[in-house]
Amino acid sequence: MGGPVDVIIVLKADIEADRPEVQRLVALAEGYGDVRTELHRIQGATRSVTEVYLIGHTGVVPTEPFEEFACVEKVVRITEKYRAIGRHGGGVDAVGFEYNGVRISQESFHVCPGLCAVDSRENAETMFRALAEHGVEVARAGAFKPRTSPYDFQGLGADCLPWVFELAGRHAIKILSMEVTHESHLEQIQAALADSGQATGVMVQIGTRNAQNFELLKAVGQQTELPVLFKRGMGITLEESLNACEYVASGGNRRIVFCLRGMKTNLGDPHRNFVDFAHVPAVKRMTRLPVCIDPSHSVGSRALAPDGLLDVFHVTAQGVIAGANLVLVDFHPQPAQALCDGPQALLLEELPRYLEDAAIVREAYTQRQRRCVPPAGE
Ligand code: PEP
Ligand code: MN
Repeated sequence: MGGPVDVIIVLKADIEADRPEVQRLVALAEGYGDVRTELHRIQGATRSVTEVYLIGHTGVVPTEPFEEFACVEKVVRITEKYRAIGRHGGGVDAVGFEYNGVRISQESFHVCPGLCAVDSRENAETMFRALAEHGVEVARAGAFKPRTSPYDFQGLGADCLPWVFELAGRHAIKILSMEVTHESHLEQIQAALADSGQATGVMVQIGTRNAQNFELLKAVGQQTELPVLFKRGMGITLEESLNACEYVASGGNRRIVFCLRGMKTNLGDPHRNFVDFAHVPAVKRMTRLPVCIDPSHSVGSRALAPDGLLDVFHVTAQGVIAGANLVLVDFHPQPAQALCDGPQALLLEELPRYLEDAAIVREAYTQRQRRCVPPAGE
């Protein structure tokens, strides 16, 4: 697996990889020096396409013989950065994925509410029950917390995984977004998921503090069992964050969501971080990845605007109206007692209004988008 991809041959929609013509194409490609191929099935919103990646010294490989195959839609030479996650000037489509029955793509929309940190069994159960009552299938639940101070609560760690997974499964939560801060956490999560009989699924979260922890990124990218939610680095450029994210993809794992969570600068005051959700469409244009927003870590408080809406609601709306595909948001049954990030947590009573507000804005986004994209044939 892995290795830099230099050419992507996009096959026509619904062409199966085992067709003799595809086999001939692969054999032709592999006849050029050290070139080897990888086949990737890309599930788009309306169609599924197979892409053949050519890896190795592909400078000698001409594109014309491949363009002549009836099964080929186009041949895209990868010349720019973001080889694995990039759009290459629009040459390749977005990549969505399905994990544990949930589809995540540049077209999908899910709200992912939950505990910043799991701090007790009781709070986890109360949280999951409330989510289940509102049909939420994707939740956040932190067990390994990267805290600014070593004296702060570091999360319950691997010990809580068995009951967190069991409770999530009992409340029909399909995916938990869970941060890892060390590669050993991957094995701990996988082992606990197996012990739970795969009661739920885990999307491995890379926190902003680890956005350039390249060894961790490689480890997360080399396993393909669990998808990855990669958070933008808080004090680096978008370009640096996308390059870091490329470490995950180049390891072989292409099931990645890119998450915006605000940037650290005093210019963002009075918010905890400077809200960067104007970058949602930019990241969707530059990469093939679904884009998540985290309004809680962006705003960092329960500040209320004079119009009656919390800043977290306003900022969520700004990301959703820009086309965000996932919203990671902190809730807590008793924020005053929360051991991590209580001040920014929404209350369980606010959950229905929050979900409704997000749905209103998502609907407005889809209406705007439909008006801008002329129907096929026009
Ligand atoms: C989190 O989501 O719990 C978290 C620590 O966020 P960030 O890495 O964006 O600070
Ligand atoms: Mn937090």
